[in-house]
Amino acid sequence: MAKLSAYIADIYEQVEKRNTGEAEFLQAVREVFESLEPVLEQRSDLVQAGVMERLAEPERMVSFRVSWVDDQHKVQVNRGYRVQFSSAIGPYKGGIRFHPSVNASVIKFLGFEQTFKNSLTGLPMGGGKGGSDFDPKGKSDQEVMRFCQSFMTELSKHIGPNTDVPAGDIGVGAREVGYMFGQYKRLANEFTGVLTGKGLSYGGSLVRTEATGFGICYFTNEMLINAGEQLAGKTVVVSGSGNVATYTVQKATEMGAKVIAMSDSSGYIVDLQGINLDVVKQIKEVERLRISEYVNRVNGAEFTPGCAGIWTVPCDIALPCATQNELDKTAAEALLANGVKVVTEGANMPSTPEAVELLQANGVLFGPAKAANAGGVATSGLEMSQNSLRLSWSFEEVDERLKVIMKSIFANALAASKQYGYAGNLVIGANIAGFQKVAEAMKWQGIAY
Ligand code: NDP
Repeated sequence: MAKLSAYIADIYEQVEKRNTGEAEFLQAVREVFESLEPVLEQRSDLVQAGVMERLAEPERMVSFRVSWVDDQHKVQVNRGYRVQFSSAIGPYKGGIRFHPSVNASVIKFLGFEQTFKNSLTGLPMGGGKGGSDFDPKGKSDQEVMRFCQSFMTELSKHIGPNTDVPAGDIGVGAREVGYMFGQYKRLANEFTGVLTGKGLSYGGSLVRTEATGFGICYFTNEMLINAGEQLAGKTVVVSGSGNVATYTVQKATEMGAKVIAMSDSSGYIVDLQGINLDVVKQIKEVERLRISEYVNRVNGAEFTPGCAGIWTVPCDIALPCATQNELDKTAAEALLANGVKVVTEGANMPSTPEAVELLQANGVLFGPAKAANAGGVATSGLEMSQNSLRLSWSFEEVDERLKVIMKSIFANALAASKQYGYAGNLVIGANIAGFQKVAEAMKWQGIAY
């Protein structure tokens, strides 16, 4: 881990004290702080405005009880969260995660990262994130509906189309967004674009479902083009089999790559013929079964229990699209031993700092999550625009805008990396490019937050 300058180290120490034990949040803050040193050396005005101290503390955070009744008529209680990290450049914006691992640290790391990611898209969106330790797995539709309604009953007091616009994330897809939207509408008595990722019949945008995965492939292709290569013809491993992984696999295949492995939290499948995505969609999206079911339906495919082993599958490109810290130093070593050329982060913070350092030191092209997976929130921004205009753009139109945004994120991150003497280091470049607009806005708006 890089050594921090005295000024940054001092602020980081305060952050550590104030957020004791919040490992994921501290990991995210430290990574950004390390990257921003070269900017702060040149920008005493931002130091003067206390931008770093303020950025590491959310503007607001609520946590609340979510009680609901299960199918056995038993009362269940979960905890809900919404962190509103930064409204410097627009209304708070960021997804909602339902997973047993959700806690304040996870929600804060995601909200912190979201602030820079949203800025990178070039759209006017601040940073936020929310969620609950509720586990939708194994729950009936009715249970999920009752939970979502209870969750939104409290959340509705804190959000609004010009205040805070949530979306989906792990465990929150079209079904959950629909139930939450319905409850918000009932409570507020107005039909507004208060959530994104909505169904197409009630204000959703074409391409939103596919956007994060498509964007990851567009971004990866830009990285490859810049290195004189392309995605077509490459062998790819994708972890996860949820929203992000599914549409990453779809677009990578459409662009001429061959995806040979996918996973879920129980293990991974390898299909050297190339993953049959229709089968995966049927298993995961329609029947909500485990990925291991794939081997019962496709000849020659193999399932291995445990997630970490997926990184031992030889590939040119690794795309971690499941969850945080899923790709550690051991995984990076295995990938390097098998000659990996590119790692692009589809999930948020899927690589540990040690893994990132090792991959970059060995010349692997590394695409950080903030930049590479920003296509999802960018298209959410386009959904907000369409809702405000009361218009729906065609699939091609939204997809074209998404491509333009991903190209410009890559170009801006690359340019920032060059400007500050770290040419090609997209981790540093993305952090700086995302930071600049937010910091500028904070400086000019005065110190009220
Ligand atoms: P989904 O819930 O649709 O899918 C998550 C996938 O990851 C599932 O296959 C799940 O397996 C697997 N997974 C979850 N937790 C673990 C774990 N602890 N170990 C191994 N595998 C795990 O979520 P998304 O696809 O929406 O999100 C995936 C990642 O992408 C997250 O980091 C999210 O923050 C990020 N992201 C999502 C965006 C979006 O638009 N949805 C936008 C930008 C980033 P199982 O089914 O077994 O739980």
